[in-house]
Amino acid sequence: MSFFNFKDALLHCEDQNLLSAVSETGTPAYVYSAAHIMAQFELLDATLKNTVKQDVVIAYACKANSNQAILKIMANLGAGADIVSGGELLRCIKAGIPAEKIVFSGVSKSRDEIRLALRNNVRQINVESEQELRRIEDIAEELNLKAPVALRLNPDVDAETNNKITTGRAQDKFGMLRSDVERLYKEAANSAHLDIQGIHVHIGSQVLKAEHFRTAFEKLADLALGLKRDGLPIKTLDIGGGLGIVYRDSAENPLNIQEYVNAISEVLGPLDIPLVIEPGRFLTGNAGILLTEVLYIKESAGRKFAVVDAGMNDLIRPALYDAWHTIIPVTESKTDAQPYDIVGPVCETADTFAVQRPMPELKAGDLLAIRSAGAYGAVMSSNYNTRPMPPEILVSGDKFAVIRPRQDIMELIEQDVIPDWL
Ligand SMILES: *Cc1c(COP(=O)(O)O)cnc(C)c1O
Repeated sequence: MSFFNFKDALLHCEDQNLLSAVSETGTPAYVYSAAHIMAQFELLDATLKNTVKQDVVIAYACKANSNQAILKIMANLGAGADIVSGGELLRCIKAGIPAEKIVFSGVSKSRDEIRLALRNNVRQINVESEQELRRIEDIAEELNLKAPVALRLNPDVDAETNNKITTGRAQDKFGMLRSDVERLYKEAANSAHLDIQGIHVHIGSQVLKAEHFRTAFEKLADLALGLKRDGLPIKTLDIGGGLGIVYRDSAENPLNIQEYVNAISEVLGPLDIPLVIEPGRFLTGNAGILLTEVLYIKESAGRKFAVVDAGMNDLIRPALYDAWHTIIPVTESKTDAQPYDIVGPVCETADTFAVQRPMPELKAGDLLAIRSAGAYGAVMSSNYNTRPMPPEILVSGDKFAVIRPRQDIMELIEQDVIPDWL
């Protein structure tokens, strides 16, 4: 179900006309549908509750979109969070996500971040290396507490996703091999300053086939059974995120959520250990669009370029991952399709949103919606070319609010310091 539909030939987000939504901020601007996020959460939550017998905490992987208004929606839904930095921890707490539902992942946690997480009583820290485990133990001793930790298993599974976002192969930087997890698990269970919670696994992002999850869960279950047999305590299995979404209707089959949940229930159900899952993109990806204005139509060497006001600094996925984003005009057009290269203002050829994309006739002043931009969009924006980061707008029914204004260009420039010896 989409919450972006045409009404009277004009694209709406829920009941909100997109032209008026951006009348205040201008373009480029992100627009999100609250109803889409809630519908995705409820679909996953209901499927889990109907199929899986043990408790499951849905910990939203907030690196996908960490605007505090989005985090507040998650808090209201009862979600927890998967964080990958101290900054994300502070955002989640401020937005009302309870620390006992926050898990802290990532390969490179600093001492300060570990301290912050322990002082705030997060549910668990997902540990990625032996040295990290020792450091957490030292910091816990210094703070005179027992640190809740889980060990991240690298299951050596290829999730058949983009090379830059696959994380579960043995050669990837994430997690530890099974033999290391087994050895360290025993040590952690006997440590005075570690409170071992369980095992974590995450095989990558934008995974569209349930069978890859099943393979990883089987390896996780096998490891967990072995540890249990050795009498070691396992309080949680954190099974990661990675649930893929459809970016291109004609070319991708959606991940079947029931099949994904069946894999959880069939493989991990018998262990009867409470679970954490960490969906990111699945909850927010198709809830957002990036609105951009066509500034110029340029014809050169037999090609038509639609030059738009959004750039790779606003949405980097096409440049970084060769990602496909569906692009549609905000005003419905019945003219014949013709190929356009849709390009941004940044001085790099990588700043291209689409190549030879069939579009109705475009003209300067048209507004375009770049779809599926609700995850890994605004959060990855940058100031490259001294461009301010774009505003974000949240729609719910016929209401809308600017949930982050466009960055002020003078504030940005004033951050630089010219030393007085220049
Ligand atoms: C990024 C990440 C996720 C979420 O990935 P999605 O593909 O957005 O679901 C979950 N867990 C960990 C550890 C991650 O790094």
